[in-house]
Amino acid sequence: MSSTKPAYKSYEITDHAYDVVVVGAGGAGLRATLGAAQSGLKTACVTKVFPTRSHTVAAQGGISASLGNMGEDDWRWHMYDTVKGSDWLGDQDSIEYLCKHAPAAVYELEHWGVPFSRTEDGKIYQRAFGGMTKNYGEGPIQRTCAAADRTGHAILHTLYGQAVRQQAEFFIEYFALDLIMENGECRGLVAMDLDTGRIHRFRAKMVILATGGYGRAYFSCTSAHTCTGDGNAMVLRAGLPLQDMEFVQFHPSGIYGSGCLITEGARGEGGYLTNSEGERFMERYAPSAKDLASRDVVSRSMTIEIREGRGVGPNKDHIHLNLNHIPAETLAERLPGISESARIFAGVDVTKEPIPILPTVHYNMGGIPTNYHGEVLTKRGDDNDAVVPGLMAIGEAACVSVHGANRLGSNSLIDLVVFGRAAGLRCAEVLNANEPVPDFGSNAGEQSLDRLDHFRNASGGTPTAELRLGMQRVMQNNCAVFRTGDVLEEGKVKIREVQKGLADIAVSDRTLIWNTDLVEALEFDNLIAQAMVTMDSAANREESRGAHAREDFPDRNDDEWMKHTITWYEDGATTIDYRPVHTWTMSNDISYIEPKARVY
Ligand SMILES: Cc1cc2nc3c(=O)[nH]c(=O)nc-3n(C[C@H](O)[C@H](O)[C@H](O)COP(=O)(O)OP(=O)(O)OC[C@H]3O[C@@H](n4cnc5c(N)ncnc54)[C@H](O)[C@@H]3O)c2cc1C
Repeated sequence: MSSTKPAYKSYEITDHAYDVVVVGAGGAGLRATLGAAQSGLKTACVTKVFPTRSHTVAAQGGISASLGNMGEDDWRWHMYDTVKGSDWLGDQDSIEYLCKHAPAAVYELEHWGVPFSRTEDGKIYQRAFGGMTKNYGEGPIQRTCAAADRTGHAILHTLYGQAVRQQAEFFIEYFALDLIMENGECRGLVAMDLDTGRIHRFRAKMVILATGGYGRAYFSCTSAHTCTGDGNAMVLRAGLPLQDMEFVQFHPSGIYGSGCLITEGARGEGGYLTNSEGERFMERYAPSAKDLASRDVVSRSMTIEIREGRGVGPNKDHIHLNLNHIPAETLAERLPGISESARIFAGVDVTKEPIPILPTVHYNMGGIPTNYHGEVLTKRGDDNDAVVPGLMAIGEAACVSVHGANRLGSNSLIDLVVFGRAAGLRCAEVLNANEPVPDFGSNAGEQSLDRLDHFRNASGGTPTAELRLGMQRVMQNNCAVFRTGDVLEEGKVKIREVQKGLADIAVSDRTLIWNTDLVEALEFDNLIAQAMVTMDSAANREESRGAHAREDFPDRNDDEWMKHTITWYEDGATTIDYRPVHTWTMSNDISYIEPKARVY
């Protein structure tokens, strides 16, 4: 059921009403769409790219769950590893929820048709991944379920099929512009149909943001060009904070030059790193886990090797990943995708030569704060966990927070399906399909159209591409693997200079049919807000924890900093406050895991 309202400015507006509107059709959005539709709620999924082109499609290595197919395992061990991986910034009630529900979520995927690789006896194949151990840190374990090195591809295609089967309605190539907020509650969403330029207003009982990460704020990243964190920026514009944005994960193995990812599964299958002396240097930094230490540890070790002059190549500015000792048949069976990527992007035959690699931005631990039901949280007065009615967030856009200061490999895909499922269940619990969808004011969304109109008619002198490159360079140079107060303070000044450039942005295409010029300007506006929040939050946190490594504050400081940063953003200025980390678990099945030094 939809209706058309008189035009605002030159924009034709079509109105819709749904119980649930999911923004995003990656793994998280599709799992939530499927769940909400399955429970009988009228559900729409709005996505700027075709569902199976979402970044989840690029996930290679796998999805973690303590199935125990390759030796004994326990969800409590998975929980311990995740808490330790998070450097004790993760909320332990959420981590318990994640690890406990992970096996069922993977079997559900299997039954829906995900073509997992198999063991000899037909069980789901599991490989080793960084930071995944048995018996609370005793030694490596194979916990990461894989469909060769195309796990995300397999999951995304399966979930899309299942969501279509549940009669969810898809609005494909619709660009979400803003949330519609009234009196602190979310009432719906404004989106633009990219094909026609028509505006669509969605009234909804619940909006679920599943818009993914914002890797594109950086110059070198493994994420798709579409990863611009639009949902995060919509939340900032709604006057709500983002959480822990200083924690940006660098993946150790981006292909040198292109940033294209080589999965950690390559090391899980026996690959190892060497420096210019041919030394397996990870043995010095992480004597026990070696090349399979967690990502922040490996990325920092590589950076130190390069800084101390032991990088490889003519400029001694990268590291080698060796797979050539692994039998060619194993590479062809377990790692076909990355063998192809290495050939295309580095000109390397992995059966004969090492792959040139460099730490590259890969994942955003920070995002929209939520509880383990997916409900968005803010801080109101003394209430640190105040729920924002009508709004949920899941997937990389959200900060549940299960990954805390550092995410373990293969823990994102499981986060998508476990919390996508949780959000669907919560909708079924709190929404009533028989009640009408509440109205919003007749001028709802006009602010957002003013913003759209502003960018569509922007007649400055600086192309978006130039501003974007400026931002990406500043983030790459001033908010990288290692950070210091001076470099971050300089970053704050420089990123503000870039932000000021917004006033002079040039959009030359004024049409409404597939105006990619306009979309890129809107995405840049979204990115720069998150870049500023990231930079300011990083300068503010005076300790080292997980992915946030301050050379001027080299130690973790639990007394002062075991807390989540929450940052608001308005008109180029940030405001920072904190929420306590949840130091309790969800049930009596496991007790709080006490902080200790994090060594691998
Ligand atoms: C190369 C690569 C490999 C990875 N490998 C692994 C792995 O092996 N294991 C693992 O656990 N994790 C892996 N990760 C991380 C993991 O894949 C991602 O964190 C995860 O897929 C994000 O899923 P998502 O559903 O949150 O968002 P995405 O898959 O990024 O989807 C975002 C969705 O939001 C929509 N959207 C965004 N903005 C708008 C807007 N304005 N309007 C409408 N729609 C919008 C997009 O259309 C898209 O459908 C990998 C990541 C990368 C980049």
